[in-house]
Amino acid sequence: MNCDGVIRELSNYLDGELEPAVQKELERHLADCGECALIVDQTKKTVQIFCDSEPVELPAEVRSRLRQALRRKLGPSSA
Ligand SMILES: [Zn+2]
Repeated sequence: MNCDGVIRELSNYLDGELEPAVQKELERHLADCGECALIVDQTKKTVQIFCDSEPVELPAEVRSRLRQALRRKLGPSSA
């Protein structure tokens, strides 16, 4: 899984709805990629603020913030 895949699966991951195999792949990427680990950590906190208990779709603002972070990392031609 690459950084874009992490972002794509992020809301499912935070909701605990990923296939175990996919979740394992995502976590393997997080172990190697500090930037994604940071994004996931921040998003987790943001989502917890937005919604205490119920699964929630990532707010559009959070999504666009993640995309911007990725674009900074990957360069203007991707993401
Ligand atoms: Zn990454």
